[in-house]
Amino acid sequence: MRQTAAPPPGLATPLQFLRGVGPRRAALLEKKGLRTVEDALFFLPLRHEDRTRLTPLRALQPGQTATCSGTIVGLSPPPPGRTRQPFTVMLRDASGHATASWFGWRYLARALERGQRLVLHGRVARYRGAIVLQQPDWEIVESGEDERLHTGRLVPVYSLTEGLGQRALRALMWRIVDQFAGQVAEVLPDAARARRRLVGLAQALADGHFPGTEEALAAARRRLAFDDFLLLQLGLAILRARTTRARGLSLDPRGDLVGRLRARLPYRLTAAQERVWEEIRRDMAAPHPMHRLLQGDVGSGKTVVAALAVLTAVEAGYQAAVMAPTEILAEQHVVTFRDLIEPLGVRVSLLTSALKPRERAAARAALAAGEVGCAVGTHALVQEGVAFRRLGLAVVDEQHRFGVEQRARLRGKGEHPDLLVMTATPIPRTLALTLYGDLDVSVIDELPPGRRPVVTAARTEARRRAIYRFIGEQVAAGRQAYVVCPLVEESEALDLKAATDMARRLAGEVFPHLTVGLLHGRLGVEDKDAIMRRFKAGEIHVLVSTTVIEVGIDVPNASVMLVEHAERFGLSQLHQLRGRVGRGPWKSYCILLTAGRLTEDGRRRIEGMVATHDGFRIAEVDLALRGPGEFFGTRQSGLPEFRVADLLRDAALLEEARREALAIVGKDPELRDPGHRALRAELLARWRGKLALASAG
Ligand code: ADP
Ligand code: MG
Repeated sequence: MRQTAAPPPGLATPLQFLRGVGPRRAALLEKKGLRTVEDALFFLPLRHEDRTRLTPLRALQPGQTATCSGTIVGLSPPPPGRTRQPFTVMLRDASGHATASWFGWRYLARALERGQRLVLHGRVARYRGAIVLQQPDWEIVESGEDERLHTGRLVPVYSLTEGLGQRALRALMWRIVDQFAGQVAEVLPDAARARRRLVGLAQALADGHFPGTEEALAAARRRLAFDDFLLLQLGLAILRARTTRARGLSLDPRGDLVGRLRARLPYRLTAAQERVWEEIRRDMAAPHPMHRLLQGDVGSGKTVVAALAVLTAVEAGYQAAVMAPTEILAEQHVVTFRDLIEPLGVRVSLLTSALKPRERAAARAALAAGEVGCAVGTHALVQEGVAFRRLGLAVVDEQHRFGVEQRARLRGKGEHPDLLVMTATPIPRTLALTLYGDLDVSVIDELPPGRRPVVTAARTEARRRAIYRFIGEQVAAGRQAYVVCPLVEESEALDLKAATDMARRLAGEVFPHLTVGLLHGRLGVEDKDAIMRRFKAGEIHVLVSTTVIEVGIDVPNASVMLVEHAERFGLSQLHQLRGRVGRGPWKSYCILLTAGRLTEDGRRRIEGMVATHDGFRIAEVDLALRGPGEFFGTRQSGLPEFRVADLLRDAALLEEARREALAIVGKDPELRDPGHRALRAELLARWRGKLALASAG
């Protein structure tokens, strides 16, 4: 009789089947996203503590963050009824004494006892003359067999979940790394590894958890971050190579419509506009699909360039779609595009879900019949089954939210239309490479002539009356003003109430002799449109708004932007808001009104706004403050997530990875070379089916 032996445990083995991991612990690990041995290997520590060089207690300095160890010589829980006081512990080592204190002490009271040895890591402060470690991370160390794992080395510190202790997890990781790291197959070709001086993957995983030295840790991190970037850039490079190979439309008319629009414009295009237009025109004329990002700061004049592209598509016998991220922006775009191109006999129509069913059906029918040259709508234009007769060009306004997946869907619309993505939030180059690595990039790096920087000031509540007086003067001089109401977290209803109250007060008490308008997201299309038109025509002097005007509104006569509770807005939002003024020849003002004590971040955002007008600088500060995940929502973008890489810290490495990816794809566009088999498998896994690589023969 043959007995079927269980296969030896490997990378795919569920953690539950490892010795010492029962169902209960497996469930806790699963909470951290760890199901298999491989998941665990790639679950790198948050940080490492250097426990080879513990700071003697006597040497602790206020202000530093330190790791030290000591024996508990006294415990003082807060007196009964004083639960809000900290729990303090007196520690001793060979050099002297120190105390550690924690809030949230119930658990400590059970866990700690006199005589235990602790390793602590945290901030040092001086409190009533004594040196105190405040709220430090702590661990009980027992001398004995596991001493080597938890002390006396660079010790990994993992992210935990309730019920999963640091020591237990570390011990488990030690066993997993020891037993399995060597089984992880190398994914990089040797040549690439040598070129980039990268350690092997198995080594990097072992050192990423339990490094022998700081250098080994740095090399491990570099290798793993490189893989994150490389796998991202490879996917993007493959997508891009496919586009440039693909057969697309050649939209290359004589340019009559473009000539007529230029002749009608009250201004000349700037040199930067001319340059990017030439880049776009050449792409459209070429027999491959255009795939281009148009970057330019707020107010740099991207819209008119897009209009030239639309006219080119129409003259070549095709239709164009212009897509915005929100309904209100789509509604504004339709007004702008109508002004620009309807006089030339090109019909522009709006298609959003806010339309009444009858209007929508009519607009769709006109589009399908080819009567409409340019359709303006939200991204739903691609998502729903809206049919064009001959879609030749898609213009996507306002970045981030139109991810790789949506771009692929657009391409799937059949004829490989040309694609122009416009972004008003200038993004740092590292991010552009991440988000738009599959696009060519054009930059408008110059504002139309005569623009003066918007005077930006931070003010507090005490100055409100003076601010109102100032707005009154501006209106008396013929200008107009925006008042943007505070963002109320997560609540459209509260946003609306704040704006409504503000408008009522301004109209009734502050500016009784002026016309005050109110714009918010709940208004119907026609109402919003009517208010925007009246503001544009100068009939409304002061426009109160929720944040719906964040992007896209263009009223050159407006010279004041007052932002209420400016501390609640993100930097790029504030930059967008400020971009609504300073569009005409008048001196313009952005007043950032703040209330209460500012958080550190809030203060830096406001200071950043006052200090600079350069959108690229602002985007960098924003990225630094918020971190990349939140900055552009990796989850929404459809891109693989990073395991180790950090866009801010590892920017230079990203460039290297990109070069490597381009070199690899240049020689082997679909990774069919047997030497790329492991890389290809990893790529497919990370992109989870979004790449659809043709299967290797
Ligand atoms: P954005 O890049 O933010 O979309 P817009 O396209 O809305 O900028 O343009 C901002 C303003 O500048 C508009 O009022 C537009 O008419 C005007 N404008 C665009 N190009 C020029 C130019 N070359 N000279 C003067 N004004 C221009
Ligand atoms: Mg715009």
